Amino acid sequence: MDTKFNADVIVVGAGPSGISAALSVAKSNKKVILVERASYPGSKNMYGGAVYTTALKEVFGDDFDKFKYERIINSHTWSFLNDTGSFEMTYKNNDAKAAYAIKRFQLESQMIEIAKANGVYYIPNTLVTNLIQENGSVVGIQTEQEKYYAPITILADGVNSLLARELKLRNDYKTHDIILSVKEAIKLDKKTIETRFNLKDDLSNGVNKQFFGSDFGKLKQYKNLFMMTFLYTFKDTIMLGVGVNLADLSKNKLNINEILDEIKLHPDIAPLIKDGQTVEYSAHLIPEGGYKKIPKLTSNGVIITGDAAGFVNGVHFEGTNFALISGKLAGESALVALENGDYSQNTLSVYIKKLEKSFILKDLYSYRNVIESLYSRSDSLSRYYPKKIKELFEIVTSANCISKSKQIKEYFFSYFKDRNIIEVFKDVNAALKCVLDVFFGK
Ligand SMILES: Cc1cc2nc3c(=O)[nH]c(=O)nc-3n(C[C@H](O)[C@H](O)[C@H](O)COP(=O)(O)OP(=O)(O)OC[C@H]3O[C@@H](n4cnc5c(N)ncnc54)[C@H](O)[C@@H]3O)c2cc1C
Repeated sequence: MDTKFNADVIVVGAGPSGISAALSVAKSNKKVILVERASYPGSKNMYGGAVYTTALKEVFGDDFDKFKYERIINSHTWSFLNDTGSFEMTYKNNDAKAAYAIKRFQLESQMIEIAKANGVYYIPNTLVTNLIQENGSVVGIQTEQEKYYAPITILADGVNSLLARELKLRNDYKTHDIILSVKEAIKLDKKTIETRFNLKDDLSNGVNKQFFGSDFGKLKQYKNLFMMTFLYTFKDTIMLGVGVNLADLSKNKLNINEILDEIKLHPDIAPLIKDGQTVEYSAHLIPEGGYKKIPKLTSNGVIITGDAAGFVNGVHFEGTNFALISGKLAGESALVALENGDYSQNTLSVYIKKLEKSFILKDLYSYRNVIESLYSRSDSLSRYYPKKIKELFEIVTSANCISKSKQIKEYFFSYFKDRNIIEVFKDVNAALKCVLDVFFGK
């Protein structure tokens, strides 16, 4: 190592991707500094509530068993909200352990403790203001207090990644590539949550509900409002939040807080949080540009990972798994460069090959058109089909003494009456395109 270097690798940002990157470097006995602006772990970070265990295991190995969680999330409900109720589908596997509900400060604290025990030098409460460059290569970081030098810097600084923008590796996001999300942590006692959600009392069950539709309450007046509402059960807290595309918010001149307030009044959601006390309110951005908006992932002396690289599959609420695995691959790529003594973009591009082999670029590629299609058909998904599903189930469930055959026929023809047939074809076309993209994937 060149004497002026303080470490072999510097990692900026101690979220899942940064911690994972730092850990994989430290495990090979290389010197790694992990710099985080927050004073305590996870305090700047936010998510719905599920961290995926396969990725945790892959990154933390034998230490995986040390993770304390609040519940195992093994019941999933997709609910299409209408103005008076909903149509729901639930998949439940009481033995599944694919996701843990862990609060962010608990998640990051536990991950950092393991990283430190493996030799990562953790510097909290320190904002990296810019990168230090020499001869066209990043050679270190400038913090508010001092400079640190290393031949490789891994940028794991999250969705805004000012540092990637400083290097011009990434353009500013357009409003339709970004979701603004707000979330309330609503406290209720443990027993109430277990009764309300039909859970066992040993924390081995937990629920994730995803709600679609915006045709209710005051939200009815807004056009093209596609929103994804989520609910997770923790031990004695419910996390309830919503994400809306920034373009939809600005078009409708809508404040996202008002949307969450309206959601809390929906007749299917209000009883779930009744008598709960909001103990935390947070907001965060989610990069939703997907495959088409991936930045330049490497440059001389630098690698970008996690949310900073836009690695999120918003359709399935997957981000921590992308962050953990891309961080690990970034760390492993840094090790290859250290081994070769060559920190150029050319050598570091081994990272891209690793990403291509993993699920990360495969999934992002398969889903490259899905989010765009969802937004382009947002009124269909949020308004029209929840209404049509309601009409269908009214026929099926109400014994109204009218012939079922007559009602079903009328229902079928109503698609042609109350909607321009071209719109129906566009919906079918968009849905088919998404299914085929995902099916044929990479
Ligand atoms: C509302 C919402 C719900 C979500 N739900 C889920 C879910 O249920 N499951 C799931 O898997 N994913 C979910 N995600 C996505 C997931 O949270 C992210 O994909 C994941 O946290 C990304 O990890 P990261 O390490 O790349 O970035 P982050 O977790 O954002 O970490 C970045 C870190 O960098 C630090 N930092 C930034 N700039 C600097 C700087 N200049 N100097 C020093 N430090 C800096 C920040 O303080 C932060 O700690 C959700 C996201 C949101 C917003």
